Amino acid sequence: MAYQPNEERYNDMIYNRCGESGIKLPAISFGLWHNFGGEDSFENGRKLIRKAFDLGITHFDLANNYGPPAGSAEENFGSILKKDLSGYRDEMIISTKAGYGMWPGPYGDWGSRKYLVSSLDQSLKRMDLEYVDIFYHHRPDPETPLEETMMALDHIVRQGKALYVGISNYEPEETERAITILQDLGTPLLIHQHAYSMLNLRVENGLTDLLKTQGVGAIAFVPLAQGLLTNKYLNEIPEDSRASKPNSFLDEKDITEEVLQKVRTLNGLGRERGQSLAQMALAWILREKKVTSALIGASKVSQIEENVAALKNLSFSQEELKKIEECLNS
Ligand code: NDP
Repeated sequence: MAYQPNEERYNDMIYNRCGESGIKLPAISFGLWHNFGGEDSFENGRKLIRKAFDLGITHFDLANNYGPPAGSAEENFGSILKKDLSGYRDEMIISTKAGYGMWPGPYGDWGSRKYLVSSLDQSLKRMDLEYVDIFYHHRPDPETPLEETMMALDHIVRQGKALYVGISNYEPEETERAITILQDLGTPLLIHQHAYSMLNLRVENGLTDLLKTQGVGAIAFVPLAQGLLTNKYLNEIPEDSRASKPNSFLDEKDITEEVLQKVRTLNGLGRERGQSLAQMALAWILREKKVTSALIGASKVSQIEENVAALKNLSFSQEELKKIEECLNS
């Protein structure tokens, strides 16, 4: 039977304004870095996208190189869109990126105008879309003038191939320059995508404050530390987990006793407030609207359900915050 989205999908999701733009993003967005490649189950990926959409997740995040093989996540997402969501494009915010190595030779990597424009053309073909909502430069390029990269983003918007632009993994100083250049070009920076979780507090070095004062949205990737901030690894490394997979970005060696001790304490603090660790970790990064959206991944439908239920309690008492801080600094 053809998929019919849940009619109540907008009832419980929280939508936060993205900086000072006209766009609102769901407090929880869904990324396709893992579990959507050519080697993964297409039908499982399809179930994940349907469940996310049914729960009010309107924002789906991709990149040219997601797979493996690179490009296959965009292809699979394009097929899922066609099969299940073709009538719902205007209810979705779809993003993709370029910035990491994608094809051989000098034009398939980093931040030249040549690379960004042709990479987006390829992404649109793979997803069979006319435009993406957000196009990101995936990482700063130390060699290409920032002006060239930002002019390429502006050009892409003027071509109608992206509605908004973002940057990812830029440090505060280069972010500030990018904001100024884009402002002068007339294409304001919509959003910055950066890592942020209880186990990675780097953005608290000034980036979050800068984005707030400049009216730019912030979306936090890897908010569950790839699964470490869940109850999954408390006692063992489960067979079907990311850490047990070959060539994964989460190495068994990273799951040290020191990390696990913190995770166990946090798990206990979550339980005290009636949340799973995953739910508390998401609520914590969304506290006080520090970020517009938490960009999660999932391998199972049940994980998306559990994670979205975090939105039922986003407030923390001073005492809870103090205990969490003590644990994170221990
Ligand atoms: P998360 O930190 O949310 O980790 C997701 C993984 O954690 C899942 O695949 C699953 O792993 C596990 N998990 C999730 N929920 C639960 C749960 N409730 N209980 C138990 N385990 C759970 O994020 P990702 O690392 O997946 O990254 C999210 C997105 O961020 C990416 O898809 C991408 O869009 C973006 N990103 C951007 C980057 C950039 O440079 N701009 C870099 C990296 C990511 P398992 O397979 O073990 O079940």
